[in-house]
Amino acid sequence: MKNIAILGSTGSIGTQALEVIEAHPQLFQIELLTCHKNSTLIVAQAKKFNPNVVIVTDESIYKEVFDALDPLHIKVYAGIAAVNNAVQMSTIDMVLTALVGYAGLMPTIKAIEAKKSIALANKETLVVAGEIIMKLAEASGVPIFPVDSEHSAIFQCLVGEHQNPLEKIILTASGGPFRGKDAAFLQNIKKEQALKHPNWVMGAKITIDSATLMNKGLEVIEAKWLFGLRTEQIEVIVHPQSIVHSLVQFEDGSMKAQMGLPDMKLPIQYALAYPKRIPSDFPRFNFTDYSNLTFEPPNIKLFRNLQLAYDVCSSGGNHPCILNAANEIAVEAFLNDRIKFLQISEVIENCLEKVSYLRAPNLEDLINTDKETRTKANELIH
Ligand code: NDP
Ligand code: MG
Repeated sequence: MKNIAILGSTGSIGTQALEVIEAHPQLFQIELLTCHKNSTLIVAQAKKFNPNVVIVTDESIYKEVFDALDPLHIKVYAGIAAVNNAVQMSTIDMVLTALVGYAGLMPTIKAIEAKKSIALANKETLVVAGEIIMKLAEASGVPIFPVDSEHSAIFQCLVGEHQNPLEKIILTASGGPFRGKDAAFLQNIKKEQALKHPNWVMGAKITIDSATLMNKGLEVIEAKWLFGLRTEQIEVIVHPQSIVHSLVQFEDGSMKAQMGLPDMKLPIQYALAYPKRIPSDFPRFNFTDYSNLTFEPPNIKLFRNLQLAYDVCSSGGNHPCILNAANEIAVEAFLNDRIKFLQISEVIENCLEKVSYLRAPNLEDLINTDKETRTKANELIH
């Protein structure tokens, strides 16, 4: 029996993780659930899964959640500091980081320090502080299991291959809703169009990141750290059907891919149950339903975020942290109708020019970089 903490249980990944856990009550038990402000859903989840602790990071819903769960002897706390403490509880075996954005960084660090296995959905953590996180995980003997479907695919392709260096990996991208469109079309995108992803139903932030190809850019940086690669070893290819989830190529030229229908429950379940594959009733892929699996290069001239992410992946230091913070502010501004779709890249590029570069930042430097970038990005938007 594995005792699981889900940070961000009310989100797209969080709710799908709970479906996986509900289907395997003999293997998993919920110890901690957290959300930001969705009081109704977290109360319903807590009533169903009976965790030891529930934490809401938006303190305004604390009383409501406390009143609903206190009679059930479920402890309720508020604020991100409570999350940082709770992930270290001795009763937790594994922490699933399914909260969105930079907010995932500190809880992940605290969980690794307390030697909890990490199922990592929150890619922003590795983008901001990949070097620090990977070194800490290694020093603490803590495994990090990727939940992101592309990274799970690569992780699955690498089982049994630890003696064999990678020549390169290929991350597949759906191309998002605006694949094949031109600059004139992108000028006037409405958020409703950008929020419609062709193949995946996800939270708003990652859905916009998928439309701008920033999601793939963040995944390039995530892959660099997870698999210890150089930027030149990471390729991106657009595969609109999202059946091949990613590929690896070894030094003999042989390639391995992991495939299946697009369903996040599979990589979530693989991370939770690793090293075992456990049964599932997820729909199966059938080759004859897909007579065409197609592949094409990404248009990085038009979707500039992917190029910017490649650039910061190479330059390193605090650049990925700047890129991430600027992107979070720009995406939020786009979702609030304050900037246009193509201005997201402009905000990021501007911040990369304005915030000073640090070659070897420590955690405190990164925290300061994040703050400074958010201020700069907000100034640019106003
Ligand atoms: P959602 O927006 O659906 O869910 C986010 C979760 O985080 C919710 O539980 C939300 O609470 C909580 N949350 C929001 N803001 C904060 C905050 N400031 N502090 C603490 N908690 C917060 O996101 P997704 O599930 O789509 O994505 C989660 C992470 O997983 C992201 O990093 C994303 O990149 C990654 N990922 C997601 C995939 C997907 O298919 N969705 C695929 C691969 C990776 P509340 O509901 O109360 O607001
Ligand atoms: Mg992905």
